[in-house]
Amino acid sequence: MVDPHPRTPWSLVRRSLESQGLAHGRDAELLERLRRSDHDEIGQVYRRLPAGARALLRHGQHALRHRLADEDLLLEIDLERHLSEGLVDEVLSSDVSDLAAVPLGRAWMQARQARKEIAAAAGAPTAWHLVGGLRRTDPLSPDVALLAVTEEPEAWTRRAADALAHEVVVVAGTRALAIAADPEPIVVHAVTPSASPTSLVWYTGPRAHVRAMRTHASALGLTLTRDALFDRQAPVRLADEAELYDRLGLAFIPVELRDRPDVIARAARGDLPSLVDVGDIQGDLHLHTVYSDGRDSVAGMVHAARALGYRYVAITDHSPSARAARVLTLDRIAEQADEIAEVRTLVPEITILHGVECDITEDGGLDLPDHVLERFDIVLASMHEGHGHDPDRLLERYQRVLRHPLVNVITHPANRSPGRQPGYDLAFDRLFEEAARTGTAVEIDGAPGHLDLDAPLAERAAAIGAPILIDSDCHMADRLGRQMRFGVGLARRAGLTRQQVLNTRDLDTIRDFVASKRAGRAWSAPPGVGR
Ligand SMILES: [Zn+2]
Ligand SMILES: [Zn+2]
Repeated sequence: MVDPHPRTPWSLVRRSLESQGLAHGRDAELLERLRRSDHDEIGQVYRRLPAGARALLRHGQHALRHRLADEDLLLEIDLERHLSEGLVDEVLSSDVSDLAAVPLGRAWMQARQARKEIAAAAGAPTAWHLVGGLRRTDPLSPDVALLAVTEEPEAWTRRAADALAHEVVVVAGTRALAIAADPEPIVVHAVTPSASPTSLVWYTGPRAHVRAMRTHASALGLTLTRDALFDRQAPVRLADEAELYDRLGLAFIPVELRDRPDVIARAARGDLPSLVDVGDIQGDLHLHTVYSDGRDSVAGMVHAARALGYRYVAITDHSPSARAARVLTLDRIAEQADEIAEVRTLVPEITILHGVECDITEDGGLDLPDHVLERFDIVLASMHEGHGHDPDRLLERYQRVLRHPLVNVITHPANRSPGRQPGYDLAFDRLFEEAARTGTAVEIDGAPGHLDLDAPLAERAAAIGAPILIDSDCHMADRLGRQMRFGVGLARRAGLTRQQVLNTRDLDTIRDFVASKRAGRAWSAPPGVGR
């Protein structure tokens, strides 16, 4: 991207707006004009920008147009003083469905990088929070947004904008920055500590939830704004987000459930599930090492798992026919077994299971013979091939492999990839029924390239009674925790409790789960698992 004035992209935008009489965000005339203008008119303003600024904005132009029309408008001005309640509602109800969506993994990396750069430029705020889709573990986030809590939001924002203006800042309001990124700008909001409880709800969204919260507050004679909850004119003192819900007579609503239309009514009745938490996870049963396409050694992965406080872990590299960079050959399986035995003596605090991620063949078999599979402590079965396959055939293959006594887990069952592949379109209920019947687990895979099963399917699986595992499917030791967090986030979006997730249980339960199926006896699931 070539910018003839690369030093000050935002000042170019600013100057261009000024030349068109659209100078100051606080200017009432600008507000009126933006309020009345439709997106096309704002688009025309952009089209009249200097070439350099336009080039810089090219990637994020569509999104920025929307943002100027809504969130940045809210940011640029002092809401309570300048905007009518009607306009706030209008903005909150505007459609964001046509914005670009950012896959979770990328959103997470971008947010982390932005946080680092901004803290280096403007000083670290008192606290950072992920907000928007990122906080809600949205596999395709409609935004990438951060909340910085600081005693001086305006000064902090100005410092950050000045320090970053020469390279990345494209829009700066008084208490927010938008940083150019593809496909969506990263938006950073700055608020004071006293405004953080309401701001967290506001920016975590989704908008429909904020709107419903405002309606709920008004019914109680209160006014919920971004910066405070008002009782008549006086702001209510709130220690944190939980206290805000409490003050509104609601149980705390976990962020992953806030996109559910009935969630406020349920919170008012005290009828929300107690969701599984990262701290409940006792072990990770799907991860890769240098024996297949992982980056780290067995010891490296085990140490990382130990650092997360897990009691057990399964090393599950790819079988021979997987299209991975490296795969397990028969020799390598024996070699890996020896290495695992060695690491067991080095890290006795954690139990290491030797497992495998075995590809499902064309006819619903496995690409390793039974006498080899028997030597593993746990067997994961996977389909990795492309899409467009006949759904009935896919289901038949799954059903056949589920009946195999050595198969314990179906990994990433839909084989989808957020933003790239929608996944298999098959009769999942029948897959889940067979998993429940045969005592086989279906997986919620937290790898950013999978995020599968996602909420609606995981919810169906639990309702049908299929045992559910949450795994990281991690290929790098330093991402083990993050990917498990993503997996747990998906399970929470599905409304799953700790009891419904198999790997919140101890190792004996896992061993019994595997042994029962191998012995052909019905698995006596602990209460809650598989219903
Ligand atoms: Zn896989
Ligand atoms: Zn894997």
